[in-house]
Amino acid sequence: MPTKYDDARDYQFHEEDMPGRCFVCHKDTDVLLIFRQIKSMLLVHLCRDCIYENIAEYLLDNTRPWLSEKKTI
Ligand SMILES: [Zn+2]
Repeated sequence: MPTKYDDARDYQFHEEDMPGRCFVCHKDTDVLLIFRQIKSMLLVHLCRDCIYENIAEYLLDNTRPWLSEKKTI
């Protein structure tokens, strides 16, 4: 059963992002990490080389949304 998050809309991927490929160089590498593109504030997959060369344009986003049942008043 898929988990529903209250703030799922804050975790949308860029429309041009392809899972399994780097957003910048489009290479299919073993390691892809999820970053938030500052310009669009949307999530993208990046390879290590592109993270290193473009770190000023992306934020590491390892924040986690709360599950609905954990929501507090
Ligand atoms: Zn890349």
